[in-house]
Amino acid sequence: KNCYEIYDQGLTTAAVHSFHLEQDLRVALKERQLVLHFQPQFNLKDTHLCGLEVLVRWQHPVKGLLPPGQFIDLAEETNLIVPMGWQIIEMACEQILMWQEMQLMVPPVAINISPQQLLEADFLEHINEILARYGITRSQFELEITESLIMQDPDYAIAQLHALREAGYRLALDDFGTGYSSLNRLKHLPLDRLKIDYSFTRDIGKNPRDEAIITTVIALGKSLNIEVLAEGVETQAQYDFLRAQGCDSVQGFMLGRPVPRHELELSRIA
Ligand code: C2E
Ligand code: CA
Ligand code: CA
Ligand code: CA
Repeated sequence: KNCYEIYDQGLTTAAVHSFHLEQDLRVALKERQLVLHFQPQFNLKDTHLCGLEVLVRWQHPVKGLLPPGQFIDLAEETNLIVPMGWQIIEMACEQILMWQEMQLMVPPVAINISPQQLLEADFLEHINEILARYGITRSQFELEITESLIMQDPDYAIAQLHALREAGYRLALDDFGTGYSSLNRLKHLPLDRLKIDYSFTRDIGKNPRDEAIITTVIALGKSLNIEVLAEGVETQAQYDFLRAQGCDSVQGFMLGRPVPRHELELSRIA
């Protein structure tokens, strides 16, 4: 009996907590408390800056700067991820425009898109409308999707991805290797990039099986003509291994942490 009470109380506390957080999240959207950080991506052949990934944070009035791990799940459960996703896209456009006006070179900007948002019937129209409003070309945007998108409604998701690619957006498959999408499915996805998940990169030099998987994914990318980026590069040994294997690009703390825009160094247009 006691056990039941403790469990019940715990559940209530958690429910109350997420209820408050949900209210806070609605306010956050209205009052524009979201902040974008940017993490650089580098080409391994000539080391040039080849992309920036947008990573959202929440400047909470009481709790301080919150990482996405503390609110994305709740946003997805409450469907707030959809308006939130649109706000992030708008903010990214504002930022790109600002950099362009400063005559800075802006590499493709990668944005994480939740399945719920991408599966909206008017996603393509809506994103086109926003970019047109800011005068930003579609190839300036890379949409990062995960395998979970394809699991939910494969035919619809694949059709949506084809429409986006034909419209000129770049597409990247995030966290590759952690989901369940089959190689057969990969064949049907119109991708520009595969992002090898951090969990594989982490074990370079420690686990030959992870190294074998990475080598295989790089070869797969080459034969399918899809760029391969490794996430979570933290050490010189990881970097050297990836370069030697012919990986196209890298992202990770060793090369640059996610930072607010004023800490980012972009070069001027020559
Ligand atoms: P993700 O898309 O896989 O993003 C990469 C995460 O790895 C980021 O965490 C980044 O800070 C972290 N990271 C980068 N380099 C390294 C490294 O060298 N070592 C380690 N240990 N970690 C590294 P972050 O910013 O906390 O984001 C976590 C997740 O939240 C993201 O994972 C993504 O799934 C989600 N997320 C972030 N921003 C957005 C967004 O704007 N929209 C949506 N829907 N999801 C987002
Ligand atoms: Ca990502
Ligand atoms: Ca990832
Ligand atoms: Ca992830």
